[in-house]
Amino acid sequence: MARSEDNTWDITESVGATAFGAAEWRAREVEHDRPLFTDPYARLFLDAAEWRAREAEHDRPLFTDPYARLFLDAATARGWSSQFGDELFAQMQETTDPRFMRRLLATWSYLGSRTKWFDDFITASGVDVMQAVVLAAGLDARAWRLPWKPGSAIYEIDQPAVLAFKTETLRSHDAEPACRYIPIGHDLRQDWPKALCNNGFDPHQPTAWLAEGLLPYLPATAHDLLLDRIRALSAKGSRIAVDALSASVFSPENRARLKAHFDQARAPVTQGGGEVRDTWDLWFDEQRTDVCDLLRKHGWQVEAVEVRDLMASYHRDVPAEDAGGIPHCVFISGQLS
Ligand code: SAM
Repeated sequence: MARSEDNTWDITESVGATAFGAAEWRAREVEHDRPLFTDPYARLFLDAAEWRAREAEHDRPLFTDPYARLFLDAATARGWSSQFGDELFAQMQETTDPRFMRRLLATWSYLGSRTKWFDDFITASGVDVMQAVVLAAGLDARAWRLPWKPGSAIYEIDQPAVLAFKTETLRSHDAEPACRYIPIGHDLRQDWPKALCNNGFDPHQPTAWLAEGLLPYLPATAHDLLLDRIRALSAKGSRIAVDALSASVFSPENRARLKAHFDQARAPVTQGGGEVRDTWDLWFDEQRTDVCDLLRKHGWQVEAVEVRDLMASYHRDVPAEDAGGIPHCVFISGQLS
């Protein structure tokens, strides 16, 4: 394991860099008309005419995020290099096994679908919730890019250096949040509820909780404690959205599959000057409580959708043989009544 129980990180290192991975795929989704992504789909999945017809038929992109690219540019200025930059991607199309390229594109579809699902959750919650807490916010720019009810308060929690990078980048572009925005630089394995309440959070008001791409980065004890604490801070009418890896992710077969996938990426990426960050090393590979079970035990009314069903609902079906680019996971939403 490349991590300890209490390590910290800046935005370009360790778990912080995973926030860039997500921002990078969001930028790709938003800039879907760039040649980079129309080409591989046309060449690898479909013929070009069919692809264009599909684009016309279904809304693309799935969401808008004008800030993702700003973060990538700011990080590049600080010396960060993308795993799969435009040039490298174009070169890989010519030289790399098409099956690997299709898996990468599946990852793109997965991240786009994930963002869309959490966006929709927030938009629906906004009907009756005036405060939201985004746990492990990373470079999520929902406080800037979604329509919030006037007077809404959005709390974001992540490592201090991650949120500092984000707020400085947005400030330097004069971007204004669409709500009252309260960043809280804090470790989610520590006493974050105290920090939250000290910053004005009101546990007697209904809250929308959002934990996207977080759970595998927490040790099993912190994982359960996080969900216990959320419940303790949730008034009636609160909502929660979280994505959780399925137990099968940690099976030996899947481990081997993921290792092969990362190994295949490593050679061309390092040759091109990039770096393959093996997310596996950043996860805490420990037995975990089932999230749906735990939420139900806490009194949440829960709904869950498997990743491939979710993607299909956004017309992002991925052939079974290319599904290696998609984590085995489930999207869970809940409400306290
Ligand atoms: N939710 C964002 C998104 O989907 O774009 C970021 C997801 S990124 C994969 C994981 C995020 O979790 C990073 O921003 C990282 O800093 C944060 N994170 C992981 N463990 C954390 C901890 N113990 N305390 C605070 N933040 C943590």
